[in-house]
Order: sequence, then structure tokens, then C-alpha cells
Amino acid sequence: MNIAIAGSLLTLMAGLVVLLIMVRIDRALVALMDNAQSIGRGRYAEPIAVSGVAETAALESSLEQMRQALTTTTISRDFLDDVLNGIKDAVLVMTTEGRMRTANAAAASLFGMPEQDLIGVAFKDLIAPDHLAAFNLERLQSAPGETVIRTRSGQTIPVSVHISSLGREPAGGNRGTILVLRDITERKRAERRIRYLARFDTLTKMPNRMQFQHQLHQAITRNTRQRRGLVLLYIDIDNFKEINDTFGHDTGDRVLETISERLTRTLPRESVAGRLAGDEFAVFAEGIKGDQAGHEQGHDLARLVLDEIAKPVHLPGQEIDVTASVGVALVPEHADNVIDLIRNADAAMYHAKRQGRNCHVFYVPEMNAAAVERLLLKSKLRRALERDEFVLRYQPKVDLATGEVVGSEALLRWRLPGHGEIAPSQFIPLAEESRLILDIGAWVLNQVCIDYSAWQQRVSDPGRVAINLSLKELSQASFIPRCRSVFERHNVSASCVELEITETTLMLDAERTLPLLDELRSMGIHLSIDDFGTGYSSLSALQQFPISTLKIDRSFVTNAASDPDDATIVRTIIEMGRSLGLQVIAEGIETEEQRYFLLHSGCQMGQGRLFGDAISSDAFLELLLRQATGEHPVLQLPA
Ligand code: C2E
Ligand code: MG
Ligand code: MG
Repeated sequence: MNIAIAGSLLTLMAGLVVLLIMVRIDRALVALMDNAQSIGRGRYAEPIAVSGVAETAALESSLEQMRQALTTTTISRDFLDDVLNGIKDAVLVMTTEGRMRTANAAAASLFGMPEQDLIGVAFKDLIAPDHLAAFNLERLQSAPGETVIRTRSGQTIPVSVHISSLGREPAGGNRGTILVLRDITERKRAERRIRYLARFDTLTKMPNRMQFQHQLHQAITRNTRQRRGLVLLYIDIDNFKEINDTFGHDTGDRVLETISERLTRTLPRESVAGRLAGDEFAVFAEGIKGDQAGHEQGHDLARLVLDEIAKPVHLPGQEIDVTASVGVALVPEHADNVIDLIRNADAAMYHAKRQGRNCHVFYVPEMNAAAVERLLLKSKLRRALERDEFVLRYQPKVDLATGEVVGSEALLRWRLPGHGEIAPSQFIPLAEESRLILDIGAWVLNQVCIDYSAWQQRVSDPGRVAINLSLKELSQASFIPRCRSVFERHNVSASCVELEITETTLMLDAERTLPLLDELRSMGIHLSIDDFGTGYSSLSALQQFPISTLKIDRSFVTNAASDPDDATIVRTIIEMGRSLGLQVIAEGIETEEQRYFLLHSGCQMGQGRLFGDAISSDAFLELLLRQATGEHPVLQLPA
């Protein structure tokens, strides 16, 4: 009996133990289940509580490992999201089918729609329809470019586009593409403003000299092709200085405004008027058939202009009588290009002045002694190389903050016996009319390398030396191999050399120029745009070239510290350059005010008389040597 009771008790106890164990396991399992659910809901900050139950220990540790792994991936995913959304540029990830997979906050705000609405949209549906044809995804993959997008509300926004591939999946498939878009509305606006300010006269709103010459050049080309002629009037106000001196500059300005209004209002529609300088205006009319018609039209136009100008100018409290003298020249009778045409009309105008003013005179070849001089000069120029009459000067390029010389620009001079030193603006255009410029260019390149290698032997780093390049040189097939061999012969590294090319030169034959520049760049040569701001290209067009530096033209720098329009141009060029990752350098700095203005507008480099004119190779070396001893040889900066 006792035995039986003991057996039952034992069974009961064993049952109780099992029950107890089961309850513990159960509790541990419930706790684990809670934890798992918590993790499922994305809450996994708390570590898994250890129950001490051996049977569930393996499960607990696996769950803890899973929790930890999830925590790290989530932290890094959140971190990546934060990074992506913190980027100010719109970033989109596109599938190989061209549909959006991911978009950041900036993309949502650019397109004016929530991020999730962008997902699945085809990128081409985001581009403004007018710009779709020009959009080339493949080209953008090799070089950044621009397009215009359309937002949900239908607004169009110009953007820059950078595209890069996400690479391949381990399985070999393509992962898609990352698109980075930046709103460039401001830059485009600034650019339009620069172009406007650079082309139109602020006082009269008329085309300025540069714009007028550009339009005249195009008209000459067009009319010559159509075998038609063109007439140009060069107009100079008589005794304008007296008006200024007697009535003051404000009145002088009102007179100029009145005259320009009258010209713009009364001239025939097919003619173009511009203000070339202070009191000098010009008008051209195209589409003339035959010399006789040209003379008649020139005569009528000149009468119209003289009559309009001769009407009294009414100003508050005074009435001013103004007259003008007009010179007339025709295409093709008197010239076939802008420079000669303007010069001849100017010469005729001078004769109108001599004939007593308030009249017009047609050009005749005898008026232009300069034309004869030009022919003479051209024949002398041909001999200049043989006679060793060219010489190079170097103008220091300077760090505007410290005054340190960081490089130089080689500028050519022609020492013509009996004429002194002739500036390049007087003979380079002549040389460019023939193959002569090629020989001159070759001489310059060689001489620069000779000088540079001499500097290299005395100072550790003479900085970069810049050479001005003409289009003809660049389009010469042997140009690049010649550069290579000259650098090699003189032991000058290509990266010590910079080529300065003007906007106009670049754009003349962009398709042919681009691969040449790419090759020069890949050799290590730096490329810069000279006289920036005076050309006609858009910055986006220039962006395709491998350019590293923009040189702000002297004409803007001269008045930057005093004229608000020029100050705007300069500041905008600096900002644009910076936004494109280009170095910006200012030309023609002559005063401390200009240096101060430029430096505080964000321009780090400059050159100009303030730091010194162009000097001989030896003198430049001297300067470098002084700098090497710790001196600041070109500038004592104000404290
Ligand atoms: P650029 O390349 O824009 O050169 C700057 C011009 O401004 C130079 O005139 C220089 O002497 C002048 N300059 C520099 N600082 C100042 C300043 O503070 N104030 C003023 N008023 N002028 C300053 P330069 O030497 O007469 O050259 C005129 C142009 O001739 C150059 O313009 C360049 O386009 C061309 N050129 C010069 N050398 C060569 C050359 O070797 N080959 C070619 N193809 N062209 C050249
Ligand atoms: Mg230059
Ligand atoms: Mg220049």
C-alpha cells in the first residue's frame, strides 16, 4: 500500500516537474514570440531578454543575432535615405527600362510631386516635350549636359544633368542609372543678362559696337551669298563735345537718347542701327541689287538720318540744335568685310566733317591712306620671321589675395625697325588672313618652350605659361603632333602649358574642334576661354569643351568697381564659372579697387598693369627668383 502511495506521489511529482518545466518553456516561448512580433513591427532597439531556459537558448541567440543584423542594415538604410534626402540636387535612380525606381526629396520638390508618384514614371515623360528630341541619354552618359524638365503643374525648368551607371548585378544584369538634376534657372537668367549687357548699350538700348559688328558680319555673309549688296552709314554727331561742355553730361545723354529714339523710329524696317562709341552711331541696310541702287539707297538713307538728327531736341527749359556728319560705304563696291567696310565709312565720315559737317560723303579709295599702309605692313610681316623681328613678353598671372605670381601669359610683339614695337592687335588679324599665322604660331610655341625650360633650370616651379591660339593653328592637322615634339625637345611638360582660345574661335567649327581639344586635354594641356563675355555662344555650348579656366574680358573688369552693370556681369561670370567648377581669372586689372572688388566677388586670380605689364623672359625669370627668396615681387598688398 505504502509502495503504491509512494509510486503515485512520485508520478505526481514528476508530473508537477514536467508541468513546471513546460510552464517555463512556455513563458520563454511567449516572450520570444513577443520579441519576434516586435521585430516584425520594426521595433528592435531592445536586446532579446535572456530567459535562462536551456531549451530556448539557441532560439534566443538566433533571434538576437537577427535583431542585431536588422538594426545595422536599418541604420545604414536610414542613413542612406538621410544622405539622399539631404542632397540639394534631385537624385533619381532609373531602371534599365528607363523608369524611376527611387527619388529623393529634392527630386520630389523639383517635379512638384510626392516621391512615390515619381516611382515607375518614364524619365522621358518628365522632360518638356519641346526638348525631348534633343535629349540624348547616351551622350549624357559620357559628358554632363542640360535639358528642360516639366513639373506636375506644367512649369518648365532648365536643369543640368549628370548621369552615371549603377554597374552590374552579380548575376550580370544591369542595375540601372543614377540621374542627378540641378535647377539652373538662375544661371540661365544670369547668362541672358550678361549677354544682353555685353551686347546692348545701356543708355540708348541700341546694339553696341560688338553687337552691331556681329549683325553686320552676318548680313554681309548673307547678302554676298545672295549676290546682293549692303550699305553702311557711319554717323558722328557734330560738335558733341560742345554740347556736353555747355549743357552738362546729363543733357548730352538726353541728346543721345533722343537721337537713338528717332533713328529707331524712322529708319526702314530692314535696316539696323547701333551705337558704336560715345557720339558715333551706324546704320546698315541690306538687300541692294547693283551699285547704282546702292548709291541711291545710301543717299536716301543718309538724307533721312541727317534730317531726323537736325530736328531740334526739346529738353525741359532748353532747345538744342544738333547736326551730324555721315560717311557712306557699300558692299561689295568698297569692301567685302566688316573691318574694311567700317574703316572706309569712317574715312568718308571724316571727309564729310572736312566738307563743313551736316552732310554725307561716299567713300572713294583715295580717302584711305590706311589701306595702303596695310598692304605695306603685310609684305613686311612676311619677312618678319626671317629677320627675327618677333619677340615674346610675359605678363604675370597673380593670386589676387597674396600677390604671388602663379603663372604667365606669353604676348607677342613685332619689333619693326623704324616703327618700334607693334602690338599684336595690329598684325595678328593680318597674319590670320593667310597661312602666315601658322608660321608665327609655330615660332611662338617653340620660343615659349625655350624660355620655359630656361626658367625651369633656375626655379622649381615657374607656374603655367599661357599661349594665345588662333583658330587656323588649331585646325592645322599637324598642330597636336607638333606640340608633342616641341614639348619633348625642350623637356617641358604639357601640363605646364595653357592654351587660350576665344569663345568665337571655339564655336566656329565646334564639331571639329571638340575632338582636338579633347586630345590636347588628355595630353595634360590646360585650356582656357579668353575674353569671356564678348562672344556669342551660350555657356552650355561651351560646357562641351574640356575647358578648365574662364578669363573675364578686360572690358568688363575696367569698370567693374564703378559701373553697376559691369559689376553684375563680372559677379555673374565668377558665379557661373564656380558653379561649373571652372577657375576664373580676370584680365586687365589696373587699380587696387578693381583687385579688391574681384577678390571679394570670389575671383582668385588676375593679371593686369597693377601687377605689371608683359616683360621679357629674363625679367620674368628675375621675378620668379625674387619670389623664391620669399619676396612678393609684384605687389605690396595694403594692410
Ligand atoms: P589677350 O590674350 O586678351 O591679351 C591681353 C591683352 O591685354 C594684351 O594685349 C595685354 O598686353 C593687355 N593688357 C594686359 N593687362 C592690361 C591692363 O592692365 N590694361 C590694359 N589696357 N591692357 C592690358 P596685347 O599684348 O596687345 O595682345 C592683344 C591680343 O593679341 C591678345 O589678347 C591676344 O588675343 C592676341 N595675341 C597676343 N599674342 C599672341 C600670340 O602669340 N598668338 C596669337 N594668335 N594671338 C596673340
Ligand atoms: Mg590671352
Ligand atoms: Mg583676353
